[in-house]
Amino acid sequence: MIRFSALGLIFLISSLFGCAQAVQDVHETRFLLGTLVEFTIHTKDKKTALKAISKAAQVMQQVEDTFTTYGDVDNTVKQFNQANVGQAVRLASEVDKLLLQSISIHQQSQGAFDPTLGVLNKLWGFSGEHLLTEPPTDAQIQQALAQSGVQSIKKTEQGWVKKVQGLALDFGAIAKGYAIDQGIQVFKQYGFTQAIINAGGDMRILGQHGDQPWRIAIRHPRQSQALGWVQVEHDTSIVTSGDYERFYMYQGQRYHHILNPETGKPAINSQSVTVVAPTAILADAWSTALFVLGAEQGLKVLKKQKGLSVLWVNADASLSQTHDFKMRDMAHKIE
Ligand code: AMP
Ligand code: MG
Repeated sequence: MIRFSALGLIFLISSLFGCAQAVQDVHETRFLLGTLVEFTIHTKDKKTALKAISKAAQVMQQVEDTFTTYGDVDNTVKQFNQANVGQAVRLASEVDKLLLQSISIHQQSQGAFDPTLGVLNKLWGFSGEHLLTEPPTDAQIQQALAQSGVQSIKKTEQGWVKKVQGLALDFGAIAKGYAIDQGIQVFKQYGFTQAIINAGGDMRILGQHGDQPWRIAIRHPRQSQALGWVQVEHDTSIVTSGDYERFYMYQGQRYHHILNPETGKPAINSQSVTVVAPTAILADAWSTALFVLGAEQGLKVLKKQKGLSVLWVNADASLSQTHDFKMRDMAHKIE
């Protein structure tokens, strides 16, 4: 059986007919984090698996509520975003931790990953209900850029403070990964060792699928078929950032949701970047950062990062990768 996810990566579940025991894929789908999240546990114990899936979904919903800057729910990210210059806001401990980790990835990625792009992201409008149809003006972009930057926030004993009026945090490039990790944590607490959480193509897997590694297909950024597939097992995450996820065309040019913090405009070096990493937080944050950096700069930055295997579909449709990214059935240049 082949199952295609709505976005990004696709996972291929081999058919397991003929297995002696009633080991099965217990499978549920929920709408969370703005996407369809597929939970699969490979087990004999369907009843407990369903309980674990419900609990994981609940925990992931809490993560969404804690980090979202949309909707009616109140949270400390929104409180910070609405605060005035100099007004200290105590962030929820999970937010505080993820912000510190985001700042560290900001530094490691030479600024390509930036959790302070809230104003710019809202200006481009890719996460709102209605997609805009033409890009903002250069003056608007410059103004939004002036209201961003990791150097313009500071942690004090009283809480986080912004130095520029209007600056807003946005965890859109990392919170989904964090939520997936939290969901997998629940599966582990329930004792499951063979499972997968697939949040719109961003996923983390546990163990194997029966006695085979999980087979994850990678989406072609411009066509409906897969680009190739990878085998993953044990405890691994695989996440793709792509310019096909949220975009519009304007005067023949593609405008999408992954922004270059230097220019304030959609990053132009890549069509998609797939990262295999030990956790979904790392895979999510780095897929965004390496998308912005592009393969040439990204490969240099990766020399100092351990445990990340990466595949780029470059802007010209050629492929680049770290030596340990093992894709099967891969074309060298995509058509
Ligand atoms: P992803 O799909 O994981 O690559 O994340 C893209 C989302 O992260 C966007 O919708 C924005 O909310 C936010 N974002 C865009 N550009 C950046 C960036 N350079 N650094 C951090 N977050 C970003
Ligand atoms: Mg990301």
